[in-house]
Amino acid sequence: MGKTLLQKVWDLHTVRRLPTGQTQLFVGLHLIHEVTTPQAFDMLRARRLTVAFPDRTFGTIDHIIPTLDQARPFRDALAEAMLSALERNCAEFKIPFWNLDSDRQGIVHVIGPELGLTQPGMTIACGDSHTSTHGALGAVAIGIGTSQVRDVLGSQCLAMDPLKVRRIVVNGRLGAGVFAKDVVLEIIHRLGVQGGVGYAYEYGGTAIDRMSVDERLTICNMSIEGGARVGYMNPDQTTFDYLRGRPFAPAGAAFDRAVSWWRSIASDPDAHYDDVVEIDAAAIEPRVTWGINPGQSVGVSERIPLAADGGSAAATPASRTDAVAEALEFMGLRGGAPIRGIRIDVAFVGSCTNSRMSDLREAARVAKGRHVAPHVRALVVPGSQAVLAAAEREGLDQVFREAGFEWRGAGCSMCLAMNPDRLEGQEVCASSSNRNFKGRQGSPTGRTLLMSPAMVAAAAIAGEVTDVREVLAPAGA
Ligand code: SF4
Repeated sequence: MGKTLLQKVWDLHTVRRLPTGQTQLFVGLHLIHEVTTPQAFDMLRARRLTVAFPDRTFGTIDHIIPTLDQARPFRDALAEAMLSALERNCAEFKIPFWNLDSDRQGIVHVIGPELGLTQPGMTIACGDSHTSTHGALGAVAIGIGTSQVRDVLGSQCLAMDPLKVRRIVVNGRLGAGVFAKDVVLEIIHRLGVQGGVGYAYEYGGTAIDRMSVDERLTICNMSIEGGARVGYMNPDQTTFDYLRGRPFAPAGAAFDRAVSWWRSIASDPDAHYDDVVEIDAAAIEPRVTWGINPGQSVGVSERIPLAADGGSAAATPASRTDAVAEALEFMGLRGGAPIRGIRIDVAFVGSCTNSRMSDLREAARVAKGRHVAPHVRALVVPGSQAVLAAAEREGLDQVFREAGFEWRGAGCSMCLAMNPDRLEGQEVCASSSNRNFKGRQGSPTGRTLLMSPAMVAAAAIAGEVTDVREVLAPAGA
């Protein structure tokens, strides 16, 4: 019987089986940032260890940086302390570090693929939940906590429980105005936010095959929101074309050799899967979350569920009613009301889910020639310096500014609000980020509606949740 990509990569990186039943995995690439590393480096020093493979470790700054005034020292003393610690640690342990003045700086999950650091067949670790993003290029990418960051710094290894593999097949064509974000929100809604616990998600099918790497990154990014620690696509020609010419990708004959190897680690046609789920792409419409976890979403033409109906098909009957009631109360929404027409205060296009060029292009297509509603504060935050520069070369910044959006510097911004970009009070935010948990965007009572970047732009202009398909449809159509 054939093997899945997960099994192949896992086997190739196994150092040994541990008495606990876990596997000691070698980590090919370790990406670090300012939030989960200060304590990890301190623990390393306390044990008189050094960084085992500084040449396999790369640092950037993303979560805490202001996207407006980046003058040092930052006004936020804690943010300044985190950046200073990362600067010191990278200098001491000779780790390449892309600081604010580097054209390679950006959100860690945006720059890894963009620089060609992320490659098929790798094991990748990073002290951030959304490390699953990198699986879009055929890597096994694992989000880890601070003590595991210490382990990887000191040994380049990670102790991992075995994972089952669920293949999620999305066949058919997405309709106009329906994007990768809608696909992954649909998947999480169907399978539940805990549905992927213990699994790696392998995404395939004709709709996934047709997607660009940017779109695949969006899907893998949110695997963790469905409970799957790892999500990946098998590498294909789209992957190879994306990687060719990137700074850290192999070049010349080495690239061709790498392609042969990358092809070989894709799942075999007769691989065994622990579960298979099939989804019809044509049936997916733009989705919007109405609740306090990413599984609580509906299609834009649908109504918010009643508490008695439950919100996710995968939740247990007992928990569904309570969970929906709690979410509706927090969000200030009425069960049974249409999702369309919910008034918003803030619109945010950004985050490691949706801050790449294709995301900004789709949002700009909606914004062009239109204007943000007077009561809405709208931000566009590129995921990296490279995205920012490319967008400005294409004139997207101008499109956004003319439409009344703020054009900001690269960073995590309002996704997590560990920086000055935050919701105030009970503001409602149309957001292209990945989490709608209570308090996620900075205000303990702030309300987040997750959707695609094009849907965010449409909401910014309408001042309320609206259907981007109608905004983009030709007049009279
Ligand atoms: S954009 Fe959000 S989810 Fe992504 S790394 Fe930054 S804070 Fe984490």
